[in-house]
Amino acid sequence: MKYVIVGGVAGGATAAARIRRNTEKADIILFERGDYISYANCGLPYYIGNVITERERLFVQTPEAFGKRFRVDVRTRSEVTEVNLQKKTVTVRTSDGDTYVEAYDKLLLSPGASPVRPPLPGIESEGIFTLRNVSDTDRIKTYMQQHAVKRAVIVGGGFIGLEMAENLHHAGAEVAVVEMADQVMGPVDYSMAALVHEHLLQKGVKLYLKQAVESFEPGRNGITVRFQSGISLDADLVLLSIGVRPETSLAQKAGLKIGEARGIWVDEYLQTSDASVYAVGDAIEYPHPITGKPWLNYLAGPANRQARIVADNMVFGNKVKYEGAVGTSIAKVFDQTVASTGLAAKRLKQMNVPYLSATIHSASHAGYYPGSSQTDIKIVFSPTDGRLYGAQIVGYEGVDKRIDAYALVIKHHGTVYDLMEVEHAYAPPFSSAKDPVAVSGYVAGNILCGKMTPLYWRELRGADLTKVTLVDVRTADEYALGHIDGALNIPLDDLRERIGEIPSDRPVYVYCGVGLRGYLASNILKENGYGDVRNLIGGIKTYKAATAEVKLPGTGESEEEKARCACNAPATDGSEHSKTICVDACGMQCPGPVLKLKKEMEKLLPGQRLEITATDAGFSRDAESWCRMTGNRIVEVSSHAGKYKVVVEKATSCAAEAVRQEPEGKGKTFILFSDDLDKTLATFVLANGAAATGQKVTVFFTFWGLNAIKKVAKPSVKKDAFGKMFGWMMPSDSSKLGLSKMNMGGIGAKMMRHVMKRRGVDSLESLRQQAIDNGVEFIACQMSMDVMGVKKEELLDNVTVGGVATYMDRAETSNLNMFI
Ligand SMILES: Cc1cc2nc3c(=O)[nH]c(=O)nc-3n(C[C@H](O)[C@H](O)[C@H](O)COP(=O)(O)OP(=O)(O)OC[C@H]3O[C@@H](n4cnc5c(N)ncnc54)[C@H](O)[C@@H]3O)c2cc1C
Repeated sequence: MKYVIVGGVAGGATAAARIRRNTEKADIILFERGDYISYANCGLPYYIGNVITERERLFVQTPEAFGKRFRVDVRTRSEVTEVNLQKKTVTVRTSDGDTYVEAYDKLLLSPGASPVRPPLPGIESEGIFTLRNVSDTDRIKTYMQQHAVKRAVIVGGGFIGLEMAENLHHAGAEVAVVEMADQVMGPVDYSMAALVHEHLLQKGVKLYLKQAVESFEPGRNGITVRFQSGISLDADLVLLSIGVRPETSLAQKAGLKIGEARGIWVDEYLQTSDASVYAVGDAIEYPHPITGKPWLNYLAGPANRQARIVADNMVFGNKVKYEGAVGTSIAKVFDQTVASTGLAAKRLKQMNVPYLSATIHSASHAGYYPGSSQTDIKIVFSPTDGRLYGAQIVGYEGVDKRIDAYALVIKHHGTVYDLMEVEHAYAPPFSSAKDPVAVSGYVAGNILCGKMTPLYWRELRGADLTKVTLVDVRTADEYALGHIDGALNIPLDDLRERIGEIPSDRPVYVYCGVGLRGYLASNILKENGYGDVRNLIGGIKTYKAATAEVKLPGTGESEEEKARCACNAPATDGSEHSKTICVDACGMQCPGPVLKLKKEMEKLLPGQRLEITATDAGFSRDAESWCRMTGNRIVEVSSHAGKYKVVVEKATSCAAEAVRQEPEGKGKTFILFSDDLDKTLATFVLANGAAATGQKVTVFFTFWGLNAIKKVAKPSVKKDAFGKMFGWMMPSDSSKLGLSKMNMGGIGAKMMRHVMKRRGVDSLESLRQQAIDNGVEFIACQMSMDVMGVKKEELLDNVTVGGVATYMDRAETSNLNMFI
């Protein structure tokens, strides 16, 4: 039996070796048009970036060694130009220009795919490359040795494009990625790609999304890449990574069937439309195990698996069926790992397949063991039976093992319930007792059984917030650091007490940091009779990332960038940093790291620096917001291997004060009109939360609100008859305040104080004192005092008396004014 194979890399070489392992009584000829066989094309970007330093390491086998070990007649530099199905021959052209014909009994095609090179003006210019094989790699390497590549443009933000972005950056170039779609990494959904955008920007990669290249112009300043939008970029090197097409020319010319996805058609035994010809790898199309529709899948794992199956079928007859691939891929993008398997939500949407999704943000391993990092996972599943359709992960550690677990469940037609059953190896350095894979299954299960009604970020973005109540159940500190506009802040732990503030006649949307507290809050609300309650999936973390605008570089800095520059201005008094304190906040979830930053900064003197390292991906952004609010200076923001390092220099007191005094509306004012215990508590909690972020906070006590700031032991003061009557009728001090609801003659208020004490919640009086200590300004309304006969001496010493103008003055420089 004579086996002829076309293509000598992933599919071809693997099949040749397996055929030999199956039989010693066969002739095997392997044709490869290039110089090399069985090389690591997946390693090529890393060789260009000097991560792999020895070229020889790219070659798994030399033609000679492979030929000898497997007794295969390896013929490199030999291109098969024709297949004659009737005569069962192939025509071969050698690199010397000779042509000859070789007969076969069985033929295997594994010709791979070829990179797309659109016919754009100037595309053949020197310095523009595609990357598919060793020759391409050598050309790029030689060019980089001969030219100083300081600016590189990657056209296409797929897996290979981003691997090249990292490697060219590693080789010292400033890198820009141009992508026609609104996101990089096509196989994942936008909300997950948004996390990659964030990381790329942090690494200094320029992102040009929704931009199509129109032409290339070589010039003295390198190559000018022009976009249809009119933008142009100068580059020393351009890498085209805009996709590949299956290499079907040979098959097509021979008359083999080409399928609807434009790949070589094969049956389940990987046999083409001709019984003597088989095909594998990038060149074939095959039905997707979930959709049943043919698709093209350009990955090395499936090519190798198909090669093994096809070798058995070619030698022993068609016995082994190929099950198809769901498309499991993974890529390293700088410090991040991005992986996906199965179908993304956007693909299901295109196909009109109903689906639901769950997004979680978990720690890669137990938070208390050093070095854990954030793992963001999105799974997509059937709303009826929970069948798992797809999973996507963006993280830093353990992404590979988790995506493989999902892939296994998907390939075996499993459901989200199977995710709960996966047994994970656990010890603190590797995972948590509840592995993120299981957690994603639990969340999906809660959605499916109706325990939690999901609210997706796109729905919230498009929602009319005048018709719903949006509740942020994070702490006041977290809320102060950034929230969704229009959200009412009721921390989860206060929700039962403050539930009355949420109207029950309209839908309630709740959110928290990542979705867990939101879920607990939605349970409390549902149990208390709220019918329409939805929880934001993935919390504000997903929402913020997915709704963040990726601005085109050079079109003006974003507000955040501008503010960052302001933060980076040198310390106003030029003081030298004499001391840098290092703090580890790794493993802490938001807002832990930023609260730690605040606490540690309080210990420093102006000019001293704090270096804080965290694994919460949002930390650097939070730290920047915090510095903007407090006037401290960001000295350095960097990330490495999923750890975010921020160095902050303590501001001089006048610089911090200048920020506090900024007339651009950074302060918060509260008008406390009520003397209900619960409302008064809320006021002081919020005031303390805002003050903790270094903001100027004022509480204006008017009418009944004055009762919250009366002394217990009052000096005797002179009052008229009405003043005396008001004095008898009103609570004499804060300890006598009642509840706005369920007061029941003061029993409710006593109960509340009792429960607060038992749960370790600060009392009203203690919160009030904290506010005073935090520098919150207390202003008593002069007019209310006059009307109600309250004298200044009856109020706490720290209270100043003012009128409407005083309040308006504070409100003028505030961006939040609340009437309670
Ligand atoms: C830069 C790069 C990085 C990649 N990274 C990954 C990764 O990390 N993970 C992953 O899963 N996949 C990756 N891939 C994809 C993976 O390499 C392919 O899916 C896999 O190699 C496909 O195997 P194949 O046998 O179909 O084609 P190939 O491995 O491409 O082999 C086809 C061979 O056939 C030869 N040939 C074609 N026509 C003829 C002819 N007429 N006569 C003779 N010879 C012919 C070609 O010269 C070529 O060498 C990467 C690909 C590239 C280019």
